[in-house]
Parts: sequence; C-alpha cells; structure tokens
Amino acid sequence: MSVRAQPATKQIYFFDEGNTSRDVLGGKGAGLADMTAAGLPVPPGFTIVTQASLQYYEDAKSIAKPLLDELDGAIAELERRTGKRFGDSNAPLLVSVRSGAKFSMPGMMDTILNIGLNDETVHALARLTNNERFAWDAYRRLVTMFSSTVFGIPKDAFDDVLERRKHELGVKTDPEIDAESWKKIVDEYKKIVVAHVGSGFPQDVREQVVRAIEAVFNSWNSKRAVDYRRFNRIADDLGTAVSVVQMVFGNMGDDSGTGVAFTRDPNTGERVLFGEYLRNAQGEDVVAGIRTPERILDLERSQPKIYAQFVEIAQRLERHYRDVQDLEFTVERGTLYMLQTRSAKRSAEAAVRIALDLVDEGLIDRRTAIARVDARALDQLFHARIDPAEHFDVAAKGLNASPGAATGRAVFTADDAVAWAQRGEDVVLVRVETTPDDVHGMIAARGVLTAKGGATSHAAVVARGMGKPCVAGCEALEIDRRSKRASLDGVAFGEGDWITIDGTTGNVAVGKLRLIPPPAKLPERLATLLSWADAERRLEVWANADTPEDARKARELGAQGIGLCRTEHMFMQQDRLPVVQEMILANTPEARASALARLLPFQREDFVGILEAMAGLPVTIRLLDPPLHEFLPSLETLLVETTELRITKGIDSPDYKARDAVLKRVQQMHEQNPMLGLRVCRLGILYPEIYAMQVRAIFEAACDLVQRGVDARPEVMIPGVGSVREMQITGENARRVAGEVLKERGCSISYHVGTMVELPRACIVADDLACDAEFFSFGTNDLTQTTYGFSRDDAENSFIPRYLEQRILSDDPFQVLDRRGVGSLMRTAVELGRGARKDMKIGICGEHGGEPSSVAFCDQLRLNYVSCSPYRVPIARLAAAQAALGTLE
Ligand code: ADP
Ligand code: MG
Ligand code: MG
Repeated sequence: MSVRAQPATKQIYFFDEGNTSRDVLGGKGAGLADMTAAGLPVPPGFTIVTQASLQYYEDAKSIAKPLLDELDGAIAELERRTGKRFGDSNAPLLVSVRSGAKFSMPGMMDTILNIGLNDETVHALARLTNNERFAWDAYRRLVTMFSSTVFGIPKDAFDDVLERRKHELGVKTDPEIDAESWKKIVDEYKKIVVAHVGSGFPQDVREQVVRAIEAVFNSWNSKRAVDYRRFNRIADDLGTAVSVVQMVFGNMGDDSGTGVAFTRDPNTGERVLFGEYLRNAQGEDVVAGIRTPERILDLERSQPKIYAQFVEIAQRLERHYRDVQDLEFTVERGTLYMLQTRSAKRSAEAAVRIALDLVDEGLIDRRTAIARVDARALDQLFHARIDPAEHFDVAAKGLNASPGAATGRAVFTADDAVAWAQRGEDVVLVRVETTPDDVHGMIAARGVLTAKGGATSHAAVVARGMGKPCVAGCEALEIDRRSKRASLDGVAFGEGDWITIDGTTGNVAVGKLRLIPPPAKLPERLATLLSWADAERRLEVWANADTPEDARKARELGAQGIGLCRTEHMFMQQDRLPVVQEMILANTPEARASALARLLPFQREDFVGILEAMAGLPVTIRLLDPPLHEFLPSLETLLVETTELRITKGIDSPDYKARDAVLKRVQQMHEQNPMLGLRVCRLGILYPEIYAMQVRAIFEAACDLVQRGVDARPEVMIPGVGSVREMQITGENARRVAGEVLKERGCSISYHVGTMVELPRACIVADDLACDAEFFSFGTNDLTQTTYGFSRDDAENSFIPRYLEQRILSDDPFQVLDRRGVGSLMRTAVELGRGARKDMKIGICGEHGGEPSSVAFCDQLRLNYVSCSPYRVPIARLAAAQAALGTLE
C-alpha cells in the first residue's frame, strides 16, 4: 500500500455526535443520528461516511490505514459505552454492519448481522442469555449472511442444509429447531465454507468487521444496486455509508420480535399505522418475507405498552421529518429499539393523498406538496384494470401489494423474464419470493406474483417503487422451478402460459384477461394538487391527439391545446385506404385530383370532430408526413401476388395487369432509406395538391364549425422543413388555399402556419424559417434521430440497451431529451427564431413533452408549451410546476 498523507477529515461519527447530514452519513446513518438526537431508544453505534466508500474504490478496493485506525478507536469507544468487549469470552460485543446511501435503495446493498460471534463467543452469548438455542441460531445466521455476502457462497447452499434438517426433524419453522440441531447445522455450514474458500469461517472478530465493511462498500457496485440506481436515476458517485450498530435481539423468545411499519398506509395514504411484526425473529426475517407476520395494529392487544410507545415515536418522527416514515424496530425482551427511519416509498395515489393531508395538517405548504409527488409516478394512477365485463375464475388470492392489473406469460426466473420480454412478449414474473437479484426481471415484467412475503416484502416494495402491479404472499401458489410449472390451488400453468394478476385486489387468474385503461378523469385529490401546480407553472401543457376521443380525454386531463394532430392515421382507415392508394398510383394530375376530391370529405369530417372537441383551444394539425409507400402493399406481398396471378390467370388477364402496375409503381417508389426519403414537406412540394386538399379540409371544417357558433382554432403545421424555400413554398400554398376557403365561406378565422422543427438544419437556419413560419414545434423524436444519426426503430432494440449498459449513454435519448446535443440545437433555434420573430410561440411535441426532466429543460429554454400524449398531461402539469419552482431540474 502506498504511503499517503492522512486525510485530515474525520471519517467516523457516533450517532450522538450531532452530525446528521444525509450526504455524509447516508440516509440510514442520518436517521439513526436524528433519532438518537431526539432521545429515542436507538442502540449505540457509529457511521463511516459515504466518502470512505469512494476512497475505497480509489484505493483499488482496499481500506486505507487511517480509516482502519479510526475504526479501531471507534470500536474501543463502543466497547466502553456498552460495557462489552469485541471477541470477549465473557461479555462479547455483537454488531450489525449496515449499508446506507443518501437515497434509500431498499435491500439493494448488503447488511450483516451478529458480527462478533465465533466458536467461543457463541458460548458466552448462550450463558449470558441463558438461552443456548438463541445463541446458536444467531451464529448460524452470521455464518450464512457473512459467507454469502463476503465470500459469495450461494445462500441456497445453506438453505438446502436447513431444509434437509427440518425435514429430518419433522418441523416446519425455524423456531421449532432446538439448540443441539442448530449446533449441527452450524457445523455443516462451516464445512460448506471450507469447501468454498479453503479456509474456515473467520474466528477473528476484527477481521469479521473489516471484511463486512468491505462487503458493504462492494455492494454499492453490485449488479443489482447498479440496475436499481439506473432505474431510479440515482447517481453512481454518491457512495454508501456504513453503520456499525450494537445488536439487539428480536429472537429471544415470545416477548421479543421485530417489525417494519409505515406511519401511514403506503398504498392508499390513509392515516393509519401500517406494517408487520414478527414474533421471536431477527430483522431480516420480516424483510425477506420468510414467515408470514402479524399486523402491526394487532400489537395493541398483544403488547399494549410497546404499541403505545411505538405509536408515540412514529408520530414524533413524522412531525420531525414532516413526511411519512418507514420504520424498522426490534423488541428485545419487552424493550423497544428503533433501528431505522426513512422517508417511506409510496404509491402515487398515496403520495398525492399524503401531500394534501400534510398541507391540511399544517406540516407543509402547497409548494412543498407539489415537490413531494414524483411526477413520473403519476403514471401509476392511470394503470390498467381487468375489464369488469370479463368473467373469470379467481384461481387464488394474494396480498394486493402494488396496484394495477397485468396480464402476460408466466416466467419463473428473472433471466427468463428478460429473455421473453426481449422477444416482445408481455410477461408476469412468478417467484416464491423475490430477492434483489430479481430486479432486472422485475423491470422486464408487466407484473410480479410471489408465493411468500407480505406487504413490506422485497417484491412489494420494489414493485410499488417501479409502479408495477404486484400480488405477493399468494399462499396457494406452488412452483416447481425445475420443470418451470406452477399451480394455484390445483389450477396448473407452465412457462409461457398466460396469467393475469390484479395488484389492486390481490386476485390471480390463469389465462389472458382483457384489461381496460384507467378512466380519462382525474381523481379528485390529484385534480386539487394539479390546480395548485397550475398556479405555479410557466409552461402550458398541450396534448398530442389524432382523434376526437383522445382530444376529449386530453382536455379532461387538463390539456390547453393540441400540439400535434397527425393526419396519416386518417389515411389508413379501411374505407379510405383504397382511395388513398388510387391517389398515389394516379398517372395523371386529373386522376390524382379525382381521388383527392373523394378524400376531402373524409378529412373534413375528421377535422370537424377534433376541432369541435377542442373548441376554444388551438389544434395544431400536421400535414401528411410519412412516405407514400407506407400506404401501399409491401414489395414482398406484391411479388407473391403477381406471381400467383400470372400462373393462375395468365399475363394477359386484367387482374394480373392491374396488380403488376401496382408492383411497378412500388418498385419505382422504392427507397433505400425511406426515413430520409420522399416524405414530410418534400411530399407537399412534389405533390402540392395533397397538402392543398388537407388545408382545404381543415378550413372547410373550421368554417362549418364557426358558422355553427363553435370556436374552432386550427393551426397548420408543415413537417420536416430544412430550408427556407421549403417553408416559403409550402407556407404560401397553405395560406393561399386557406384564404380561398375563408373567402368562399365569407368566414374570418385567425390561424397560423408554422413548422415542426425536427432537423438539425432547421435549428441552424431558424432565423430564416421564422420569417415565414409563425410558430415552431420541436419534433424531438426525429430531431434526436437526425442529430444522433440513430434510426429510432433500429436503435432502441439493438445497440441502445448496450450503450446504456456500458454507460456510453446515461439515458435513452428517445426517452429523456439529450440536453447537450439535441438540447443545444433547440436552444439555437429558440434564440434565432425569437430573434427574427419576437414573441414567437414555440413548443415541443415529441415523446419528451411528457417526460419530467425533459419538461424541466423546456422550461429552462422558456418554451411556451409542451405537448404530450393525453395520459401524460397530468405528469407534465406537475413537472412544469416543479420546474418553475426549481425543485426539478
Ligand atoms: P436494509 O437497508 O436492507 O433494510 P438494514 O441495514 O436495515 O438493511 O438491516 C436489515 C435488517 O436487520 C433490518 O430488519 C434491521 O432492522 C435489522 N438490523 C440491523 N441492525 C440491527 C441491530 N443492530 N440489531 C438488530 N437488528 C438489526
Ligand atoms: Mg432496513
Ligand atoms: Mg417526424
């Protein structure tokens, strides 16, 4: 090891030293210090700062001497405070070594309990507690936890021994195992250790503690922790703190136990204590969902004193943090100890309710309430439900652990979930219980079903955090992992079979059920919160909608306009497609004009519907965008068809000739690179009559409505403009036709002609474009595509996932706006555009318009509006307020 200057900074803080910074101590360490400061019963201990874990990585994964020295000092101090000694054969000190980052990552990193036990101290513990069984139970836990986390020995190796023993003894649960049997189990465990690592289980207690600390440091970069951080957008360079806490024991008999509680219901937000308590058990038993626990409320009857004390503490912590807390505690022989407090993870519904209630209770103000709700999570409120019209047998019921319904093919391992999902299948992950190693599978799955574990089990907590439906603790579920089959109360299913879970009710059914999207109406509490948000935000929120139904839905959810109404779907509908094809295949301008004339009434009707649904609000209609061959049969199909016709009917038959003509035309139109080919405004320039028909339809529709007294407000958007002449030609064409219609109808309607800014060149010449374009709308899907040179359809399932894995990209640029590249083009366009046309209205209508961090960026650019899909309107409203208030960047 190199000799380095001693860091002058202190790296270890005792809980009572007054340092309560989350940055320094991590959430868990800060919580323990806060609780200690508040005089709550916390076992003594200390926290190694987060920076130390980063230093550990810098030092090529070794703990430098200064920290080791400081650690020895801290242990000596802890011995002094507890009157026990580490490794002592009379009064041994036992500790837990616990991970804890700034932002909580439940269960993602490692924690080891009962450190300090070895072949000698285990006897002392037995004598001191007069409970041999307990001492050996504690020791076997240490061997298991330590060996799996430090040595990487699979937990299964130990579990198999335990299961076999239980079987031999004819018992079902751990508490039924006696001292002698635990001793034998420990012996067998130690042999497993020798077989795996070549040496015995470490007897030197200092070595135990140091290696446990290293293991916690290492767990910061475990695959599951990294996956979790990526999913939750937590930075990789925060590091984890390590708390060393004197052990207290919940497994010392029936007057002991351990629990997890939320100060309010994390699913609904209701103001009731929510949680679970497991008698005669150690903390990890509840979190791992090993036995099914009792409800925390039942403690009121069984241990009234403890319950009363706990309720008081829970309320104090809630007031202190002004937020709902997630608490871990242990009762050792009738004495309560607090082991953890943190801000509780909650469903979106609960988040909204809690934010409103805390305002009512005077604990927070409205602006804080706005900041408290994660905009991304609002999506959950619009989760699917099982269609009530479906008649189905509930095969089994479990706990409704995370709301929403999911249907998909059953898979039994996380890796299988990923594999099936990559093939484009919807899957439901079915497990006995989930562990943090399953997180990648949970991300890939539509929903999660587990046989064991309660509402605070890993599966439940993680699924809620991800907003995925989860049914947990479904006791009727039996899984045979090897054959990849399972049964629910006798109803069998295997890998690939459809199942449906309802995380709102806990129902599980075998088979594929129809799900219906959530109602297009805002829940009342959310409506209130969003009305507060509306008062704060600068950005308007518009929606992308192509149909009157979508437009109505968007309006209901608060949209202030339509930012993108695509017209191509109108061409795709069955009754129109033949006419569209005729138009495309037309050989003469007259033939084309005739087909277009027949399309006009259809288009007019479409526009009447959407303009009426949005009466009083702007509707931005984009003229035809995709390459024309998208409306024609594919080359492959045509080749097959013409070949068949030639064989069956002959080359002189009219059928063959007609089909062959289509084939020739499609061959003629074939493009190597259609995304960059004859599409967008290029179409409108080569076939001005198409855009002319669309503009005519728009204004005839608007005039019809205005004459009926409906306030129709059309805006015309030209797609894919890259040069000023394109804008001039298409813009003039549109204004001429609009003017003709308005004159014919004797109608006056104010409207604008603008362009979708979706090419880098458009951004760079935005000042020129702005002379003719009256508004800009960033089409960031195409702009991302053309800026990166990534074809979206290809990139997203091939190299982008790899790029994310290798951290070449930190986010998928099609989901989260690339501020550095695409964003700086946008900034240029805004500056140039507004330079040429002061007060120009500028918005965004790509997918990014409903993604919170992209919304924040649009706010920084001072756009006028974001436009997103209808269900994302509430997300954008909240995110825009958070951006304006500076709580979302
Ligand atoms: P996580 O972050 O995964 O919750 P923790 O560090 O909180 O990990 O510990 C896991 C379990 O062990 C928790 O249930 C906790 O309450 C329990 N535990 C941790 N330290 C102690 C201790 N000193 N005494 C008793 N139980 C403990
Ligand atoms: Mg914990
Ligand atoms: Mg586009």
